[in-house]
Amino acid sequence: MAPEILATFSKYQQTGAKTEAGGYLIGQEFGGQLVVEVATEPEVDDIRKSFFFKRNKYRGQKFVDEIWKASGRKMIIAGEWHSHPENFPTPSKTDIRESMKSFAKGHFPLGFMLIVIVGKKAIVHSWVGIQNKSGLFKINRIGYQFWRDD
Ligand SMILES: [Zn+2]
Repeated sequence: MAPEILATFSKYQQTGAKTEAGGYLIGQEFGGQLVVEVATEPEVDDIRKSFFFKRNKYRGQKFVDEIWKASGRKMIIAGEWHSHPENFPTPSKTDIRESMKSFAKGHFPLGFMLIVIVGKKAIVHSWVGIQNKSGLFKINRIGYQFWRDD
């Protein structure tokens, strides 16, 4: 993952009274390995509350389409991220349901999407998982790289 992504996650960590935030993860595939290069930031008209985050799908999708075209159709949606007001975050029931919906609606060439939940502690304690057609699974991380879960 690019360092800019970690900076974006840090910026929206729910310390103090900050509301839940989130966006898309955009990346490229290199030989079966997914490299996440961009984490989109919340947009002004996204609905942001403490325990709830809902993306403005229309504008979000437009932005993703723009990246896809500008990159010569190489960059793809790799997944979604959002923040939680927890030290060591885990997916809520809503997260599990919404993640399944996003996966069903989207187009994921690698057959899975990444889900990252950023907590209040260091970014390294974020929850990282993979959504595929069977469900949402936590994955282990090697440094800040995500690997395809074969
Ligand atoms: Zn959540």
